Amino acid sequence: MAKNKVRRVLLKLSGESIGNGKVGIDTKTVKRIAHEIKVAHDSGIEIAIVIGGGNFFRGEELFHAGIDRSRGDYMGMLGTVINCIALQDFLEQNSVCTRVQTAIQMGQIAEPYIPQKAVRHIEKGRVVIFGAGAGLPYFSTDTVSIQRSLELHCDEVIMGKNGVDGVYSADPKADQNAKFFSVLTYQEALVDDLKVMDASALSLARDNDVTLRVFGLNVEGNVAKALLGEDIGTIVSNS
Ligand code: UDP
Repeated sequence: MAKNKVRRVLLKLSGESIGNGKVGIDTKTVKRIAHEIKVAHDSGIEIAIVIGGGNFFRGEELFHAGIDRSRGDYMGMLGTVINCIALQDFLEQNSVCTRVQTAIQMGQIAEPYIPQKAVRHIEKGRVVIFGAGAGLPYFSTDTVSIQRSLELHCDEVIMGKNGVDGVYSADPKADQNAKFFSVLTYQEALVDDLKVMDASALSLARDNDVTLRVFGLNVEGNVAKALLGEDIGTIVSNS
């Protein structure tokens, strides 16, 4: 991945983390995450964020409930924007300057996604938050987080997970023998179908040599630690 003078990180937050496992926004959790982002930002880390929308809608689930898949996906993408605005507000309350850029244009609340402008914002010390995924049905925000990290020349992607502290061979809550991985290759994750990200995101990361850290989001301080580059959770790479 890119080697910048200043560490530049893409933080992926799932909708589940924003809602703390429930439908809607858990303001206490978003407030805490915003505070931790500020801590890392104050240390000079350059930060871009992609937020998911699973706390509102997932197109696939809506499809099974009888809604056209593409429309359901657009509903999912709109949910991500609500999450972006919530995080933006708590960051601004912490005196962190932010911009939201969306892949679907909505001029009153966000800029359109313009990669060069996003880089300029980051260089000026602003945190850029990306919403509405790729603007395309059948994609996921995991894939978008890898794509944005590549286009913005980030050094690392960090992905906060709810309820686990990294990647395991099986669900550690259901299987006592689940093995924790401190390091993992994309190939292993793909072949063993480990629950890191969806396969398209994993392939894109593998093919472009992205370094990914998966960490537990529920532990206080972990977002700041992961942003600052501390060795927590699981590192996924090609080596
Ligand atoms: N989505 C989409 N295209 C994208 C990104 C997201 O269609 O580029 C839709 C899709 O329906 C997805 C939902 O938005 O299920 C929420 O995104 P995602 O599932 O990635 O959120 P997360 O699991 O991270 O909360």
